[in-house]
Amino acid sequence: METIILKIDPLGEIDIKIPVEIIKKGGLVAFPTETVYGLGASVFNAHAVSNIYKVKGRASDNPLIVHVSDFNSVSDIAILPEKFEKVVKKLTPGPITFVLKKKEGIPDVVTAGLNTVGVRIPAHPVARKLCELAGPIAAPSANLSGKPSPTNASAVIEDLNGKIDCIIDSGDTPFGLESTIIDLSGCTPVVLRPGPITIEELREIFGEIDIPDFVKNANHVENPKAPGMKYKHYAPEKPLYMFYRHEREKILKLVEKENGVIICPEEHRKLYPKERVIILGKLENPYSIAQNLFKVLRLFDKTGFQVGFIEAFEESGILFSVMNRLKKAAKLWR
Ligand code: AMP
Ligand code: MG
Repeated sequence: METIILKIDPLGEIDIKIPVEIIKKGGLVAFPTETVYGLGASVFNAHAVSNIYKVKGRASDNPLIVHVSDFNSVSDIAILPEKFEKVVKKLTPGPITFVLKKKEGIPDVVTAGLNTVGVRIPAHPVARKLCELAGPIAAPSANLSGKPSPTNASAVIEDLNGKIDCIIDSGDTPFGLESTIIDLSGCTPVVLRPGPITIEELREIFGEIDIPDFVKNANHVENPKAPGMKYKHYAPEKPLYMFYRHEREKILKLVEKENGVIICPEEHRKLYPKERVIILGKLENPYSIAQNLFKVLRLFDKTGFQVGFIEAFEESGILFSVMNRLKKAAKLWR
């Protein structure tokens, strides 16, 4: 299949007729959001949604997120408890997904058979316009399963060119990390995935929240509350190891021996041999680290280095979310 690649400037006039028609006819479109690029199909077209799983090689028990254009459209898809209306309004549009009891009519393939559904109102103007004109869109990240999520169109092209109908190219995504997911289907909100909206912010907004062990430790668990959490994620093809500050001396010796490269923030550049460093962003602006993470993991695969060694971060704020992804992408050097 020939994939149409369409450049759309998110700050200009957004002409989105072609992708809207493709979605309405049951095709697949990769589109930018403020988190990462999504691979979308019409929610109500079960066949189109099943094609998302097929082209990504995604396990069928890993549900998708439904994207809608505005607050009022949430109730077409899900039941939002009255007590959460105010906070959801406050947090949207934005990089956060709410797990809610689903309404009838949402095909099982979207939710992997669950009676809940993840709903998000993206803030990215291209994503919003697409949902506004094409209706609710089911979309996971637009990468092959297991690979780092795509934060620009070239990453999507790398994984999906020739397999889907259209890729919208709107440049780099602002956050570069998948949405925060919070389950509001029970009494107490449960964080299922940390993301751009941080744990600290969620605590302030919701008061009491549950943070399950699989979020704190990011281990692979057999029966996680969030389906899909048991799968390996985000990993580059080459071996990647994460190390802590006290292991620096040891890693410095290994990096030459193993033809390795160090992935670290700008502030630590001088601690390592300069020809063996890839810069991830600045600690001074931790959001830059989140924004570059997946891009750098993909870049590392294209270098001549055999092994990657990535510095661990202190687990607070957005860097807690970064560490959640890193623990899945990298092993500890032992
Ligand atoms: P992706 O956008 O590729 O990260 O995939 C969407 C993620 O949303 C999945 O991995 C699930 O963990 C999560 N998700 C979607 N719907 C639900 C749901 N009903 N309950 C729990 N998690 C969900
Ligand atoms: Mg994904």
